[in-house]
Order: sequence, then C-alpha cells, then structure tokens
Amino acid sequence: MTEKLAGKVALVTGGGRGIGRAICQLFAEEGAQVGVADIDMELAKQTLETLPIPGRALQMDVSSKKEVEAGFSELVAHFGQLDILVNNAGILLSTTFEDCSEETWDRILAVNLKGTFFCCQAAIPFMKPRSRGAIVNMSSVAAKSGGFTGHPPYAAAKAGVSALTIGLARYLAPHRVRVNAIAPGVIDTDMTKTANHAELAARIPLGEVGTARDVAQGALFLASDEARHITGEIIDVNGGLWMD
Ligand code: NAP
Repeated sequence: MTEKLAGKVALVTGGGRGIGRAICQLFAEEGAQVGVADIDMELAKQTLETLPIPGRALQMDVSSKKEVEAGFSELVAHFGQLDILVNNAGILLSTTFEDCSEETWDRILAVNLKGTFFCCQAAIPFMKPRSRGAIVNMSSVAAKSGGFTGHPPYAAAKAGVSALTIGLARYLAPHRVRVNAIAPGVIDTDMTKTANHAELAARIPLGEVGTARDVAQGALFLASDEARHITGEIIDVNGGLWMD
C-alpha cells in the first residue's frame, strides 16, 4: 500500500460489482474512505465488506436526480467532504439500429449519460468552493469505434460521456478540479460474460481481455495527485484494441 489517496473521500457509482468494485477496493487500499453507490444496495454492502478501511454503502440509481442528490448529501454528511467522484455506473443492452425501442434507447442514455451528468452536477458544490477535486468518468472504446456490434445507443451515450468530460474539465480547470475519463476495451466482468473472450482476445494486440483491476489502476492514477497536471484526458485501457 502506498497511501496515494490518504485523507481523501471518494464516491464510486456502480460500485457493487465489476470494475466499480475493483475501484472501491483499490482506492480503499490506497487510504481513501469510499462511498460505494449502487442501484442494488445489497451489492454495495457486499463491496463494503471487502474494503480494508470503513466506507459507506449508498443506495443510488444514477438516473434519478433525487437519489443522486440524496446519496451525495448522505456521503458528505458522513465523511465531511468529497474529493473524488468516479462515474462508473453503466449498462450495456444489445440492440440494433433497426430494432432499438424507445425504452431501450432511453434507459441506456439515462444510466450511462444522464447519470454521469447528474453525478457531476451533484459533485460541483462540494469541489468547486474548495478548489480541489478529481472526477473520473467511464467512457468506452465504443465511443471511438461506434460500438463493435449491436450497441448503437451505448456507443452514443459513451461518446456523450467523453464530450461531457472535456467540457466539464474546461469549466472546472480554473477551480483546480480535474475531470478525466477512462475508455476501457473489453474487460472481464458480468457485463461481458456472454461474449466469447477467447475470440475477443485474439483481436486484442496484447492478447488478452483486461481485468477490472487494470481499469481500477487507471482510475487510481487519474484520481491521485500524480495526475495533478492532467485534465480533459481520456485514457484508453484496452490492450491496444483501439489505437489513436
Ligand atoms: P457491470 O459488471 O455490469 O457492473 C455495473 C455496476 O453498475 C453494477 O453493480 C450495476 O448494478 C450498477 N448499475 C447499473 N445501473 C445502475 C444505476 N442506474 N445506478 C447505479 N448503479 C447502477 O459492468 P462493468 O463491466 O463493471 O462496467 C463498469 C463501467 O465500465 C460501465 O460504465 C461500463 O459501461 C464501462 N465499460 C465496461 C467495459 C467492459 O468490457 N466490461 C468496457 C467499456 C466500458 P446491478 O448489478 O444491480 O445492475
């Protein structure tokens, strides 16, 4: 443990499993007090039990502005501050340009894009006046590729996340709040469990799909003071799947 986040309070959305859980665990290992927010409180509590230092589980559907505001208030009331926000919550529903229903479009955009926006909005009053803070958003390789197969609304939502990241980074830079994103490629989590990992690995130059911990390491770097001069950046964690 290097205590890169000692004294910091972090909120991680979608922290109940997958990449979000790995981020909560790595951040806590590095000394942060972590608010584990998830739409499923039971999963959030399960993550909490794995953390080496006490955190707090928060019930939060990021697509609900009311739940987001309540969650942020609860966290700050408990820990007294908010230093790091990781907008990790996301959903992937397979659909096509022809078949995508209005409900599917709305839900994908609501969680991935609107949820990220609501959480950024909620974080601003706790970061801007203190002239400190780091926000890490979760984009995707799909934002650049357009989505490999069957994910047009997901790709559009993640492209929106990348755009929000840059816009908010510029807006908050004078206040010393940094905003960055990670664009994972194919990561071994429940989200990709139906995919053929061997087939996908063969298309990845580094020869394997990534782990949730690989993405967490990127989030740790962007959230830590080691990235103090980096804002508006979108870091690929994709084994070379997409190079630009
Ligand atoms: P995951 O295993 O499906 O985990 C997502 C977590 O977010 C789950 O705990 C889920 O809760 C929670 N969640 C879903 N909707 C929510 C909402 N409305 N409010 C709050 N929490 C919600 O996914 P993952 O693979 O860890 O992905 C994490 C992030 O990385 C996502 O933004 C995803 O788009 C992005 N990403 C993943 C990959 C990949 O290959 N895995 C690639 C690129 C980008 P429930 O379990 O209750 O649904």
